[in-house]
Amino acid sequence: MQDPRAFMTIERAEPPREPAARRLRHWREYTRLAEPGRVTRQAQRCMDCGVPCCHQYCPVHNLVPDWNGLLVDGHWRQAWQQLESTNNFPEFTGRLCPAPCESACTLMLEGAPVTIRNIELAIVERAWREGWVRPKPARRKRRERVAVVGSGPAGLACAQSLARAGYRVSVYEKADRAGGLLRYGIPDFRLEKSVLERRLAQIEAEGVAFHVGVRVGDRLALDALRGEVDAVVLACGASSPRRLEVPGSGLDGIHYAMRYLEQQNRVVAGEHIDPRRRIDARGLDVVIIGGGDTGQDCAGTALRQGARSVTQVQYHERPPERVDIRRYWPEPAPLLRPGDVEEEGCRRLWGYDTVAFEGREGHVEAVRLQPLRWYRNSEGRLVKQAADAPSRRLEAQLVLIAIGFAHTEHDTLVTRAGLSLDARGNVRADDSDYRTSLDGIFSCGDMRRGQSLVVWAIREGRQCARAVDRYLAGDSELPAV
Ligand SMILES: Cc1cc2nc3c(=O)[nH]c(=O)nc-3n(C[C@H](O)[C@H](O)[C@H](O)COP(=O)(O)OP(=O)(O)OC[C@H]3O[C@@H](n4cnc5c(N)ncnc54)[C@H](O)[C@@H]3O)c2cc1C
Ligand code: SF4
Repeated sequence: MQDPRAFMTIERAEPPREPAARRLRHWREYTRLAEPGRVTRQAQRCMDCGVPCCHQYCPVHNLVPDWNGLLVDGHWRQAWQQLESTNNFPEFTGRLCPAPCESACTLMLEGAPVTIRNIELAIVERAWREGWVRPKPARRKRRERVAVVGSGPAGLACAQSLARAGYRVSVYEKADRAGGLLRYGIPDFRLEKSVLERRLAQIEAEGVAFHVGVRVGDRLALDALRGEVDAVVLACGASSPRRLEVPGSGLDGIHYAMRYLEQQNRVVAGEHIDPRRRIDARGLDVVIIGGGDTGQDCAGTALRQGARSVTQVQYHERPPERVDIRRYWPEPAPLLRPGDVEEEGCRRLWGYDTVAFEGREGHVEAVRLQPLRWYRNSEGRLVKQAADAPSRRLEAQLVLIAIGFAHTEHDTLVTRAGLSLDARGNVRADDSDYRTSLDGIFSCGDMRRGQSLVVWAIREGRQCARAVDRYLAGDSELPAV
């Protein structure tokens, strides 16, 4: 039984992490799993609120107070059953989710929410260890076939849900291995690839067939694929990067983040990379333009490669360390969240625009930055303006551009088939039925909603599976979220 006052005596405790100096020597995950006793104690802090905002603010609506209560009573297996009923892949969200649930936790008003994400991770990891995560092949097979294009979290969640509903599901993936950004974007120090492998094995054992190295839209045209199956789901992500076109942006030594991250993920996986194509930060001054997850992953990678210095530049002003949470709760407050990479030695600069790259003999040697001033315009929107201050020059022999992704790739898959796009350049499909402009073709995940989060990709994959089931069977027993 939960004690609604336990939070008054039990403090929020983060799981142990390897010290920065040690973790920089390897590529493995450095956040350790908390001991079961510690996890249960943290779960005790949950007050089981009448209106659990954590549940509402979780995009897959995880039943957070329910699992906390079960853990307190020692029922780990039931907690797992609750968790897997709403989330196909808690091992990914338990490692990667920015946890809007914690911002919405009532204890956030005291500045110390329940450690929901870590509890989620502890439950799913125990489930894997105990053998509770097993393939769940459909008891009754249906005759209809569905092709899922793209094997990121959206495609995987959709494929798994449809296979469990009895459909014959094939996943087509253009890369040489499945996983999407979980494989070739996010580094091993945040998500070891063995975590992905064991989940892929489970999905395969549930009957999903994977065809890797197949780019739909090239030799296998979308309409040809549509002709072979009863429905197609497009879950191809939003990998077209926002461009930074300033003087000098064509110099050698300037790369877009995904090229860098993909390459290092391949190196960690044991692949040989042609030394002429290798991007290695060893001994270099590295400047990363952009401050989001992608920029942080570039920083962590450069530090592990042995960069001489790593600086991350972003154009927003430094957020405050303290705010009145009540002004924002249950929405996330705009607080400074120190990233792990700062602890590892990355310097962060706030409020600068990148205005030029300077080079010598065709190679970058410095980044020119212009200080910015932010103000609210008459409509209340924050706008930036060059500050009346001199520009700044940063030495850099390697520059990584991580300023986000514009939209889904406008490749032959999208253009030749004539799919309608929305104003931002993503595939147009409503999240009530996930239907694109073409009959029998659905879309979900970043390809539909634009660059987003793993937890949203899982939600969309699940909902899209339900939409396909309704399209093919007239109704669906798959969960609505
Ligand atoms: C570096 C980085 C770090 C991130 N960190 C986090 C984080 O910490 N937490 C978080 O929640 N989110 C994070 N994200 C965002 C998250 O990874 C994405 O929102 C999520 O992966 C989107 O899932 P998806 O399935 O829609 O697309 P993706 O994961 O992009 O998968 C799309 C797949 O489709 C394949 N594909 C594309 N076109 C074709 C084609 N024509 N034929 C066949 N296959 C095709 C691609 O190869 C890819 O495998 C990060 C993103 C990046 C880039
Ligand atoms: S998936 Fe994310 S938002 Fe949902 S409970 Fe887990 S950490 Fe919180």
